Amino acid sequence: MTRRFLFALAIVCVFVSGGRAQALDPIRYTLRFPAPHTHYVEVEAAIPTAGRAEVEVYMATWTPGSYLIREYERQVEAVTAAAGTRALNVAKSTKNRWKITTGGAANVTLRYKVYSREMTVRNNWVEAAFAMLNGAPTFITLVERAARPHEVRVELPAAWKRVETALEPVAGAANTFRAPDFDTIIDSPMIIGNPVTREFTVDGKKHTVVFEGDPAMIDADRVAADVQKIVNEGKAVMGSLPYPHYHFMTMVTEAGGALEHKNSYLGMTNRFATRTRGAYLSFIGTLAHEYFHNWNVKRLRPVELGPFDYENENYVKTLWVAEGFTDYYADILNKRAGIETRDEYLNALSNQIEQVQTVPGRLVTPVNMASFDTWIKQYRPDENTANMSINYYPKGAVIAFLLDAKIRKATSGARSLDTGMQWAMQRYSGDKGYTPQQFYAVMSEAAGTDLNGWFATTAESTEELDYTEALDYYGLRFRPVDARNAAPYIGGGTRNDAGRLIITSVRRGTPGIEAGLNVDDEILAIDEVRVRADGLAARLAQYKPGDKIAVLVARRDRLMTLDVTLGADPGRAWRLEPAPNATAEQTAHLNALVEGK
Ligand SMILES: [Zn+2]
Repeated sequence: MTRRFLFALAIVCVFVSGGRAQALDPIRYTLRFPAPHTHYVEVEAAIPTAGRAEVEVYMATWTPGSYLIREYERQVEAVTAAAGTRALNVAKSTKNRWKITTGGAANVTLRYKVYSREMTVRNNWVEAAFAMLNGAPTFITLVERAARPHEVRVELPAAWKRVETALEPVAGAANTFRAPDFDTIIDSPMIIGNPVTREFTVDGKKHTVVFEGDPAMIDADRVAADVQKIVNEGKAVMGSLPYPHYHFMTMVTEAGGALEHKNSYLGMTNRFATRTRGAYLSFIGTLAHEYFHNWNVKRLRPVELGPFDYENENYVKTLWVAEGFTDYYADILNKRAGIETRDEYLNALSNQIEQVQTVPGRLVTPVNMASFDTWIKQYRPDENTANMSINYYPKGAVIAFLLDAKIRKATSGARSLDTGMQWAMQRYSGDKGYTPQQFYAVMSEAAGTDLNGWFATTAESTEELDYTEALDYYGLRFRPVDARNAAPYIGGGTRNDAGRLIITSVRRGTPGIEAGLNVDDEILAIDEVRVRADGLAARLAQYKPGDKIAVLVARRDRLMTLDVTLGADPGRAWRLEPAPNATAEQTAHLNALVEGK
């Protein structure tokens, strides 16, 4: 209903402007931080009314790339409207909309405050030292479909030096930026304060690496040098850099997460991100993932992801392409850039395959429907999610791996998934977007063979993935681990709840569910010996798969003993590795993949 209403409004706008596309007057925002230590940003919006007696404004309820209705407007307070010095009536019309009675004024000023203390990539944070602002929870805009410019001017507290954002600066106006439309301002987070920055240029385009929060222990020079290599490898895969400039923005705040935007990304990490190999690969892997999104999803996108309806769920069946293929390329870029070793690359791929093959929900939900239902499942996980659904990140990445091998094999190495992604980008980026069928068609064309049936099986059914062709093409194998050496396994998760060992999930088809273990059971003892909250793994290591153990649990405070026959941890039963008898030809195929040549 909202979509239809907005569409009708858009038609009215075009009609009154005489059928020609006319530049609309911008909404001009001013952001102030009079007391940043209280975590508020004060917003003033100068809104043109086009002479209407009443205008309706709204705040987005979700952020593209993060598929959950977030209800940002719950942090908004003190909403007032005025025309010059004359107060106007402003009334809430829905949870996230307001109607302003204009009294015929050509411009109205809307003022409000936003409480900003959620350190996530979708939300806002304001404190004495800095501010991190996202578009969706900050900017209230007109209810309309037309592309209206949005301008924002930031008034800096005395101790803050500058604003870092991918928004275009307005020449001659300090700390003022202009977005051609609401989508762009929603898609351009801002870091305001005294960030640490590094810059480099590729193809004449400025790349800015930004750290704010507590970056003292971050090796910014090393990150910038590696990021430049990633940019070069990304360009080699996709053919060109499609953005005018790009901001890599990281909040060093002991929080986590990262979110892609068209000309930037905003991520979060901890102060030790560049101190150990494992932490660094994880950090730089996330960075490469979000960066690759500048092509895959921000430009080459599923048809459903635009124009966005910012007040309702936008359903899309190809997030396994948008996220999974991006995950696949994140590791490819890091490997080709020389940041990951070949072993680390194969280990990462191995982990992704494990994440697919050990999740019972892969046999319940096709990955395209996991994408469709992300609003109610992947973004709202609970203890049974792994039993009923599949994560489209690793499954999409594994599909990309299989597809890449398929295209290379079918074309004798003349083309690859890179070719398919470039062609898809040329045909469907920007306003177009692709349907699943169009995506299948362009990949079929790259392979020179009809892949519709293969996509129907891999992406639209719950059939097990077939690894044979890809492993054979690259000369890889799953090295089985001797079952007697595999880790003993109950099947599920636990947490240390203030010293109590609580079961958080029980997986289908595991010894735990067969024995009747329940979520929220407290494990007290195994074979009549107490198990401390942090001691389960060490205790299980005393046994072997096939051993029978008696598990004493408390369920709603009643004690009971359950007999469990231990299994072997399926995730530790094999690893991906080059086959010892791989031919020179197979090894050359693997080299072509990991070296990008
Ligand atoms: Zn992503």
